[in-house]
Amino acid sequence: MRSIREHTGAQARRRFIAAVAAPVAMLALGLTATVFYALNTAANQADRVSLLRQGQAARLAVDDVVDELAQSQNGVAVWSPLLRELYKPRPNWDWVDVNAGTWLNFVFAHDVDVILSPRDTAVYMMRDGVRVAAPPQDSIVYTRAALSLIDAVRERRRLTPGRHDRLPGQPIADDASVRTSPVSVHATGIARIGNRPAAVSVMRIVPDGSDGPAPKGPAPLLLSVRYLDRSFAQRLASVRLLAGARATTGAPREGEASVPLTSNIGKRIGTLAWQPDRPGEAVWKAMVPTAGAVLAGLLATVAALLVGVGRLMRRDAASLDQLKVAHLELQAKEAQAHRLAYHDTLTGLANRARLVTTLDDMLGTGAAAGVNAVLLIDLDRFKQVNDTLGHLGGDHLIRQVAIRLDALVMPGDLVARLGGDEFAVLLTARADEAAIGALASAMVSALREPFVVLGANVHIGASIGITCFRDAQGERTELLRTADIAMYRAKADGRNRYRFFAADMDESVKLRREIEDDLRVAITREGELCVHYQPQMDGTGTRVIGVEALLRWQHPRRGWLAPAAFVSVAEESGLIGALTRRVLRDACGVAMTWPGLSVAVNISPVQFRSRTLAAELIAIIRETGARAQQIELEVTESVLLDNDEVVRATLTALRRAGFRIALDDFGTGYSSLSYLSKFEVDKIKIDRSFIRRLGEADDAAAIIHAVVRLGHAMGLLVTAEGVETGMQRTFLEHAGCNELQGFLFSEAVPVAGLGRLLGRLEKAA
Ligand code: C2E
Ligand code: CA
Ligand code: CA
Repeated sequence: MRSIREHTGAQARRRFIAAVAAPVAMLALGLTATVFYALNTAANQADRVSLLRQGQAARLAVDDVVDELAQSQNGVAVWSPLLRELYKPRPNWDWVDVNAGTWLNFVFAHDVDVILSPRDTAVYMMRDGVRVAAPPQDSIVYTRAALSLIDAVRERRRLTPGRHDRLPGQPIADDASVRTSPVSVHATGIARIGNRPAAVSVMRIVPDGSDGPAPKGPAPLLLSVRYLDRSFAQRLASVRLLAGARATTGAPREGEASVPLTSNIGKRIGTLAWQPDRPGEAVWKAMVPTAGAVLAGLLATVAALLVGVGRLMRRDAASLDQLKVAHLELQAKEAQAHRLAYHDTLTGLANRARLVTTLDDMLGTGAAAGVNAVLLIDLDRFKQVNDTLGHLGGDHLIRQVAIRLDALVMPGDLVARLGGDEFAVLLTARADEAAIGALASAMVSALREPFVVLGANVHIGASIGITCFRDAQGERTELLRTADIAMYRAKADGRNRYRFFAADMDESVKLRREIEDDLRVAITREGELCVHYQPQMDGTGTRVIGVEALLRWQHPRRGWLAPAAFVSVAEESGLIGALTRRVLRDACGVAMTWPGLSVAVNISPVQFRSRTLAAELIAIIRETGARAQQIELEVTESVLLDNDEVVRATLTALRRAGFRIALDDFGTGYSSLSYLSKFEVDKIKIDRSFIRRLGEADDAAAIIHAVVRLGHAMGLLVTAEGVETGMQRTFLEHAGCNELQGFLFSEAVPVAGLGRLLGRLEKAA
């Protein structure tokens, strides 16, 4: 029996090795080798390309020095006064010093300049800024080094034209970079002088054309030398970025990269060497440890896996008991995986699944005593953070929000992230609703505090909806639904607040849904929706200068509805665009009937999220034949608050098309006049709540004065809306308002009555 078991064990092991272990190990090793090979090849290739570039840069640098040397000679060698001086029986060498030698030595940093007579004897020589007393002897080392160049300039010898030569009777190399005057003749190159590599240029000294042709016979020559010494090496290092560059007559050192320096006649002068930059090697060095660690980890995991699976299989073969154990282990692992599935990976909080199961458990057992609650939390303005700081910033913010929320709850409560910027909190066993309200209020305050995200101060806020329940009373979907409704109410009430669910909210949700359905029908019909017009008077209230279009709805069952009852529904359900188009079309008709009036149309902030808004409005103007200049678009300041590119572009496009922009309900939002300077608007309309408080609250008058003054300072017109009394009108007129609007003059009337109303107002004036 025992031997049979051993036998099957050995067989199982062999089968395992052949079928699983060997192929997996081969695969892992093959993968490792491939990864390293690919990394290494890429690094080598990068180095090869880089070295090639560095070699090119080095050659160009040598070319540059030689070019410069040739070019700097030009100013002295093509110059009649120097030639005249040299042809004098006794040239004045002091004059030559000042006008040629010193100039070339100091300004152009030549190391040596020699002037050769027509018979090639040195007659003048300046070295390191000092004139040499015996040129014929001292110059021998230079003339010898430059012999081939001298011969070339004298046309005694033909050199293959290089980049720098301009030799008589030979074409100039295509890519010759030295562009000296047509009369200049020189030969340039590199040579070895006293075991130092140097750039050498020889040039004929000729007249500059100012006094006739050159004298007959051979010309004197200017021979200039510049060593490829330390300053050259420094330039290579700083301009061409070749570290540790040096020119040498010897061989390059170990580890240096180099290009050979060769003279015009093909003689090896020396080497230009530098410390090569090997980007590939650097990347390789940086990556090998990481890649190695990752692969080692991979291999270790594979090995561990193999060992584990092998052991499991052996056990499996050995005994049924052990199989059971293995099965249990597997189950435990599964349970762990399951637990992972209940966590939000970004924040470590519970996720939606966990919230749902916890809530179900609670409702099933009725364990928790006291008042329990579901809180749904939605962040305000999170989208802007994501848009401006990117997803990284968004993630960072979400994590901080999670921490702040988690810090406020007690053991036994559950904070969950439902996704995006939505959170939920399950509170258990509180004494009463007030305790829950206090906690929600603390959460609102905590999320109102600024966050630091990627170094920037970020302000968001939160709207919280709460549903309370006792013990096990309630149903999960219902609790979540009602909390959601309460959250929407918190948002609608102005955000940054919490709301408990109340039964009438449910009613209002149903009502809103009904209104939405009815509105869809009304939009397609004639007659139910119509536009009324309210006059806008000049600053004294005596002349009508415009009208504002205000929407009305004659609902088949509910009667006349004011915009408050349906505009927000239209905004939420995407119907607002169709409504606006209808109003604008109607307003265009009014504008064409009364060409002297301005017609104002309200545009919902929601519409500014669309990139096509400007195009849509412009299309209606074209289609109706009205003038955009007669139409004023009223937008609320919340539109400007987003400081969004789309909004800015839309406003600019609309103004360019001729529309005027008025800022409606000014003073009710987060208004700051500083927003005005960032956007293009023409007018502000002080909200009627300020006008109403005139005479009631002390600050109202002061605020109105300040707004009028600042508005005017910014070149804006100022309108007051909601003028109901003669007292208000007098105050506003004195305050300097440009336009007045309100029931004192008239409420909004149907188009049919507008003609009569305008006539009455004119007469009254
Ligand atoms: P709003 O743009 O501030 O419009 C002025 C509102 O104040 C109008 O209410 C108007 O009837 C009312 N009003 C005018 N003079 C006085 C006054 O002396 N005293 C008082 N207490 N109220 C006065 P309405 O027509 O109910 O419109 C309410 C809001 O609905 C408007 O506020 C506007 O935001 C929105 N709305 C109206 N028509 C449209 C529309 O066609 N499109 C859009 N998007 N919104 C509209
Ligand atoms: Ca308005
Ligand atoms: Ca208004």
